[in-house]
Amino acid sequence: MAHVLVYIDTPGEHLHKTDRELLTLAGMLGEPVVALLGDLTDGVSAELGAHGAGVLYQPAVDGLGELLVAGKAAFLAAAAEEAAADAVLLGNTFEAKEIAARVGIRLSAGVITDAIAVGKDFSVTKSVFAGSYTVNASVTTGRPIITVKANSVEIATPQSGSIPEVRRVDVAVPGAAARITERSERAASGRPSLDEARIVVAGGRGVDGDFGPIEDLADALGGAVGASRAATDAGWIDHSAQIGQTGKTVSPQLYVSAGISGAIQQKAGMQTAKVIVAVNKDPDAPVFDIADFGIVGDLTTVLPQATAEINKRRS
Ligand SMILES: Cc1cc2nc3c(=O)[nH]c(=O)nc-3n(C[C@H](O)[C@H](O)[C@H](O)COP(=O)(O)OP(=O)(O)OC[C@H]3O[C@@H](n4cnc5c(N)ncnc54)[C@H](O)[C@@H]3O)c2cc1C
Repeated sequence: MAHVLVYIDTPGEHLHKTDRELLTLAGMLGEPVVALLGDLTDGVSAELGAHGAGVLYQPAVDGLGELLVAGKAAFLAAAAEEAAADAVLLGNTFEAKEIAARVGIRLSAGVITDAIAVGKDFSVTKSVFAGSYTVNASVTTGRPIITVKANSVEIATPQSGSIPEVRRVDVAVPGAAARITERSERAASGRPSLDEARIVVAGGRGVDGDFGPIEDLADALGGAVGASRAATDAGWIDHSAQIGQTGKTVSPQLYVSAGISGAIQQKAGMQTAKVIVAVNKDPDAPVFDIADFGIVGDLTTVLPQATAEINKRRS
């Protein structure tokens, strides 16, 4: 059976949703094994076992996480060789993609990013050019290294698996051009993270500085808040909320776009959402070309009505 190595970065007290998606996918393709950087709690160990991971690789040296992606890539490459992995799966963040690229160079292996599905033969389905085309691609050199978009896999129900066996991997520590010297935790918003959320409510220049209606609807739906670049550039919301070509790529089940025109660079980050609902007062806004449901109206009227109705039905 193929060994499929899943890279997990600093899980904290629990595995992230994307980690569980990757483990589920690895289990569908073969036998999941894990390369885990950072601390391993008993809870995470049990969760890994419950998602089918029999063996867990950790670095034999400390401090690799402080060397930015260079240290992480050195570890993952060493773990892939130690595990004799047939394929390596990572998440699809910018950092994970850079780690994948560096591992590809170290192992002389092909890398495919932005996967939305992976077949038993490790052929990959990708959605490209802002979702206008679906492409099937395969790695032809070395073990495939694949980064997988969040929400591409339905997480399997955890089983009563045993605690994975921990194996230490020797890693040649790379010379550091830069080193992390301090970390500070971002205050928890109580909302799901944008990368992982099943529902995203995003606002653009049309919110005119007030993200209140966007946040209220996101909270009523249990979703995350996103934004167009016009909104983040205006300073109305943090840059980490930007969705699009130069922002985050999201693939939620539901994407509500409010006061966003739907420029190609914005579509590039959200077009693979399962259902797109657009609210815009301009009936000719390009966003309506890709929306499953379109509401022509003022978001300051439409969104509060939707929020009130959802909250009424919930109570
Ligand atoms: C290299 C490059 C990379 C880029 N990367 C990104 C990216 O990652 N993400 C991104 O978003 N953009 C990106 N952009 C910018 C992109 O081209 C657009 O300029 C941007 O997406 C526009 O944001 P917007 O739709 O919020 O604003 P606008 O284009 O100004 O649209 C605002 C919309 O809101 C509507 N509206 C106004 N008031 C209301 C109201 N009260 N109720 C309802 N609707 C209302 C208007 O009808 C309009 O359609 C990039 C551009 C370049 C050149």
